[in-house]
Amino acid sequence: MTTLNEFSRCVAQYDPHALPVPAAQAIVRQWAAPVTAVERVALRDALDRVLAADIVSPIDVPSHDNSAMDGYAFPRAALAAAQSGGSGVELTVAGKALAGHPFAGRVAPNQCVRVMTGACIPEGCDTVVPQELVEPGTDASSVRFAADAVAPGANRRLAGEDLARGHAALRAGRILRASDLGLLASLGIGEVSVRRRLRVAFFSTGDELRSLGEPLDAGSVYDSNRYTLFAMLRRLNVDALDLGVVRDEPAVLEAALRSAAASADVVLTSGGVSVGEADFTKQLLRTFGDVAFWSLAMRPGRPLAFGRIWSGERPGVGLPALFFGLPGNPVAVMVAFYQIVREVLLLMSGATPQPLPTIHAASRQAIRKRAGRTEFQRGIAEQDAHGQWHVTPTGSQSSGVLSSMSEANCFIVLGHDEGTIDEGERVAIMLFDGLI
Ligand code: AMP
Ligand code: MG
Repeated sequence: MTTLNEFSRCVAQYDPHALPVPAAQAIVRQWAAPVTAVERVALRDALDRVLAADIVSPIDVPSHDNSAMDGYAFPRAALAAAQSGGSGVELTVAGKALAGHPFAGRVAPNQCVRVMTGACIPEGCDTVVPQELVEPGTDASSVRFAADAVAPGANRRLAGEDLARGHAALRAGRILRASDLGLLASLGIGEVSVRRRLRVAFFSTGDELRSLGEPLDAGSVYDSNRYTLFAMLRRLNVDALDLGVVRDEPAVLEAALRSAAASADVVLTSGGVSVGEADFTKQLLRTFGDVAFWSLAMRPGRPLAFGRIWSGERPGVGLPALFFGLPGNPVAVMVAFYQIVREVLLLMSGATPQPLPTIHAASRQAIRKRAGRTEFQRGIAEQDAHGQWHVTPTGSQSSGVLSSMSEANCFIVLGHDEGTIDEGERVAIMLFDGLI
């Protein structure tokens, strides 16, 4: 068995004391094995789930050629005839078609049919002139319009134009969004196969931590990481298993890690992974896990443990889980989660993750930055009247100041090799909000 420790040493740029963020991301990606179990769910329950197999369209959508406008459908030959005669087009209205109520007859070359948006294009017709371009004809049952009012074939939606029968409408690995639920419904599909949800257990470590409802005595703090982690996991639609606060005591910590490994695919902890006296995670995991300890070239979020643990008493015994020991500082937890953990959880969920989108913005301030590490500063981005993006770093950039995350609406991403940023210089930003 290749151990993770051996594996990570072979990666280019491996430096356990200052591992670049892209190298860390590349290592963790290698260990993300997707869950294999699949379940059938009703369409409404499929939102944010990961599609387990391609969806091949069983029908054409739309199923018939239909009108894109309210107007009159007619055969395109009428346009050519009018143009060569140098006159307008005059057609007799043979009937009407509404969405859901097709016109049953055949249309002669000098006829048209009144059509509403979504109505089937009657047989013999292939072009629709919008009603606002039409005027009454010489008698009550005819209409007139200019020969150049529309191009041949205009305003007709073709059968299969949205989705063609036999083609893949959605690919396996897709995280189903609002539009996908509608799209599946348009195919008449009411139930889909999705991967089972990834199970992620998490707990906080630290003797100073108090849970909500407990009194706050001298030197103690409320455990906020568990709530941030719960929320971030919820957003990824995984099964989040909250295992509470675990004291800084090796035996208790070991029992907690073992039981977490027994019940989850991935175990996340916060705190206890740096080099302080009560940071037991390190010693402990060396004995019953296969874990690499890294100091990432990243700020915040420098200390990180990553590896595999088992529910049994030594590596390889019992049920396995992937393990991330995140830093304790609240902002560092969030940065490490988004930059290192998120993609792995998506991969393990069976999804095909897309990189988080970045845009560029002019910095309203100079930002001090040392080359040789990636920084994720908290920023407030806004667009000016000309549509240009600007970003201002939040006041405190300390990794303990969680209010900086609530105040911010983006990360300012300062790359590994970048140095100090001047006022007005363009920087990459990652907006927190997505749309669909
Ligand atoms: P540690 O990495 O355990 O040394 O923790 C670093 C800092 O983060 C300390 O100030 C801790 O009190 C704080 N911290 C650790 N875990 C949590 C938590 N779950 N909620 C809030 N603060 C925490
Ligand atoms: Mg601690």
